[in-house]
Order: sequence, then C-alpha cells, then structure tokens
Amino acid sequence: MDDCLFCKIAAGEIPTQFVYEDDHVVAFPDINPTAPVHVLVIPRKHVPNLSAAADEDLALVGRVAQVAGVVAERQGVAESGYRAVANTGQDAQQSVQHFHLHVIGGRPLGWPPG
Ligand code: AMP
Ligand code: ZN
Repeated sequence: MDDCLFCKIAAGEIPTQFVYEDDHVVAFPDINPTAPVHVLVIPRKHVPNLSAAADEDLALVGRVAQVAGVVAERQGVAESGYRAVANTGQDAQQSVQHFHLHVIGGRPLGWPPG
C-alpha cells in the first residue's frame, strides 16, 4: 500500500535495522521503546489489523506470531518472559494501520494494561 509507513519499512524504502527478516515477515526496533526490548514484527503484506485478516492471511498471521517467539529468543527475553501485543482499532490506540505485534520485555510488565 503506497501510503503506509510499515509497507515502506518492509520494502526497504526507509532505512531500518531489521532484527529478523524472511520472505514474508520483518522485525525491527520500535522507534519509541517502552521497555528494554521493544520490537515490532510485521508481515510484508499490507494487512490493516487482526480484524481485517482474511482466510488467506491466516498462515501469515501465524507466522508473525511464530517470529515474535524467535525475536524474543534472539533478544534474550524468552526465558524471563515477554508480551506480544496487537493493538487493534481506536480504543486500543492502534496508530499504524498495518498489522504488527509488539514484542515487549526486559522488565516486569504490569497487568492489566492501561
Ligand atoms: P501501535 O500504536 O500499536 O499502532 O504501534 C505503532 C508503533 O510504531 C508505535 O509503538 C510507534 O512507536 C512505532 N513506530 C512509529 N513509527 C516508527 C518507525 N519509523 N520505526 C519504528 N517504529 C515506529
Ligand atoms: Zn502497510
């Protein structure tokens, strides 16, 4: 999608240090980290959010979730624990309309979230 920040990042149009990449998924540090580890995992394909995932996107969404685990391992928080979060829609304050999982860890995380 032409006007989408994360499509541009996935396509390499905005210089970004990927911590993971394959043919379908990339991961990169959040520009405004909320914890010592804060990485965003996204599909290269433009899927707006979980609610917009079509049947044909199910494997891709699963792959994003699997890569969140790989990223957590690489970032050293798999054992200590982490959160994988998909903010979806207005009440959840989704600010970028391209599906992404936040992988957050490296400190104790409060629950419930705000
Ligand atoms: P959300 O609010 O769940 O849609 O998350 C979007 C996230 O993207 C926020 O945590 C932002 O800090 C992050 N973000 C926005 N622009 C960039 C960028 N250019 N590179 C990395 N992360 C970004
Ligand atoms: Zn996009």
